[in-house]
Amino acid sequence: MIHHQVLVVGGGLAGLRAAIEAHDMGADVAVVSMVYPMRSHSGAAQGGINAPLANHPSGRDDNPEKHGYDTAKGSDFLGDQDAIMIMTTEAAARIYELEHWGCPFSRYEDGRIAQRPFGGADFPRTCYAADRTGHYILHTLYEQAVKRRIEMYNEHMVQSLAVNDGRCYGFVALNIATGELVPFQGSAVIFGTGGVGRIYGHSTNAIINSGTGIGICYQAGVNVEDMEFIQYHPTSLWGTNILITEGARGEGGYLVNNKGERFMEKYAPKAMELAPRDIVARAIQTEIDEGRGFENEYVNLELMHLGKEKVLEALPGIHDLALNFAGVDATKEPIPIQPGQHYTMGGIESNVDGETSIEGVYAAGECACVSVHGGNRLGGNSLLDTIVFGKRAGEKAAKDVAGTRASESAAAAVEKAMTSVQRKLKAIEDKRGKEKHGILREELRQNMFDRVGIFRDKAPMQEGLAKVKELQERYRDCALNSDTKRFNIDLYRYLELGAMLDLAEVIALGALTREESRGSHYRRDFPDRDDANWLKHTIAAWTPQGPKLSFKLVNVSKWQPVERKY
Ligand SMILES: Cc1cc2nc3c(=O)[nH]c(=O)nc-3n(C[C@H](O)[C@H](O)[C@H](O)COP(=O)(O)OP(=O)(O)OC[C@H]3O[C@@H](n4cnc5c(N)ncnc54)[C@H](O)[C@@H]3O)c2cc1C
Repeated sequence: MIHHQVLVVGGGLAGLRAAIEAHDMGADVAVVSMVYPMRSHSGAAQGGINAPLANHPSGRDDNPEKHGYDTAKGSDFLGDQDAIMIMTTEAAARIYELEHWGCPFSRYEDGRIAQRPFGGADFPRTCYAADRTGHYILHTLYEQAVKRRIEMYNEHMVQSLAVNDGRCYGFVALNIATGELVPFQGSAVIFGTGGVGRIYGHSTNAIINSGTGIGICYQAGVNVEDMEFIQYHPTSLWGTNILITEGARGEGGYLVNNKGERFMEKYAPKAMELAPRDIVARAIQTEIDEGRGFENEYVNLELMHLGKEKVLEALPGIHDLALNFAGVDATKEPIPIQPGQHYTMGGIESNVDGETSIEGVYAAGECACVSVHGGNRLGGNSLLDTIVFGKRAGEKAAKDVAGTRASESAAAAVEKAMTSVQRKLKAIEDKRGKEKHGILREELRQNMFDRVGIFRDKAPMQEGLAKVKELQERYRDCALNSDTKRFNIDLYRYLELGAMLDLAEVIALGALTREESRGSHYRRDFPDRDDANWLKHTIAAWTPQGPKLSFKLVNVSKWQPVERKY
């Protein structure tokens, strides 16, 4: 049995930052990741990372308080304000740390880190490395982890937590390369497993973002929070839904309908294209639904007026993506875009130190709900969330495990989990069903996008929830096509789908229950925000009959909610 005091699940930004911190605090730590760390979705992040450095040449002052207020307002006041202030107060230190570790941020001529405007922010505070920010930060953190000789178990998919009497002792992972089950024992398990984007059709997310980390925790009895809040990014490439960063609008890009109008004038006269994502995504979808889109499916993003030099310098990745995936030269022609699922605001219920409802389980990054993003995340705040709360979770876990070592009782709990996963896999191997999990997955994604999507309504959501339950039934009747041990994609896609269906149920039920509109959760039948009844977080706990919902008050310690105007 493998033993490390701290086991970090996930090799993205949150996982690596947590591992580095736990290591530096003296813990014996390892990273266990489904993919090689550099292939984590963090590497796809484009536009940038927020911090109130006040470097922008406009000379305007910026500070954690202003960043905090923009974040709370952007969250439609569902974000916990104590947690938000921790994030914005620690932001600058985390950015300078990355700089000192060698992250090649874009800079002004005087050498300071450059900052661009982003949606919902009253100040240009998004630091960036061209339009490949996530790629550069991920490399920086990976180098730091390698330098510290932190052990990594790559291509290991965590399956099941070993929980006994309300405490976690480790987990069982499937070695994808060999097909073997591997038992891991540890006193702290930190999840940095990313979002559930792939539950939805039209997603900007990597195929690995199936949310199994959140699913495993939920199925083991850890609470999940605010899962109904799913972010739709306004600008994904028409057809493929590859992300076109908000940085494109930050650099001055326009959104234009088939009448040639910059339609954001009607929806957010002041902020225009740089209103928060929920507002811009709904505006675009409304233009398309009311016949002012192109081919009833997209509107145009224009960068031509910025000039070739600026596009190639500030947005080289976007220029390449548009050229390679839409055949469009963005310096000469508009880019066809449509909204796409983008981010999971909810996740594993965690506090500002990553602790969850089960002792020994911690979470940080997109899989966690701290909650700093509330009903709607501002662009550039997620990368920040991963490094601020990743560090804090690593620090807390290391303190909690000081002096612990492998124990027989912990090993027994992991052995028990091992036996149960072995049994489960054997049953899957022996199954002779008629359903195909690939087909169920596509039906699920279509169902969620169509019925629990950008615009929501009671009747379609009820149908959507019923469809998820139908899919859960049919899932029991799935058989595998391949019994190979090595890289059995058939098997792990099947395993992912089980967690995805359970989380889809939580999302649909939460969305049906929340009878108001807030942030990304927009109900046509309840179009207003209802602070009197719904200024609260949705908590879901797993039961054999389905999710059990309860509610938790929002921390409103600094700013009273006001109507959002942009
Ligand atoms: C295209 C795109 C562009 C973005 N651009 C920006 C941006 O410019 N600014 C910004 O702030 N945010 C951006 N975001 C959001 C941001 O990138 C993510 O929220 C953030 O990087 C998530 O980091 P993470 O470490 O939490 O998870 P991830 O980077 O998703 O990493 C998850 C890790 O968990 C592992 N894992 C998952 N399940 C298991 C399992 N069962 N067992 C073992 N390992 C597992 C995976 O192998 C992976 O290593 C963007 C997102 C996308 C999709």
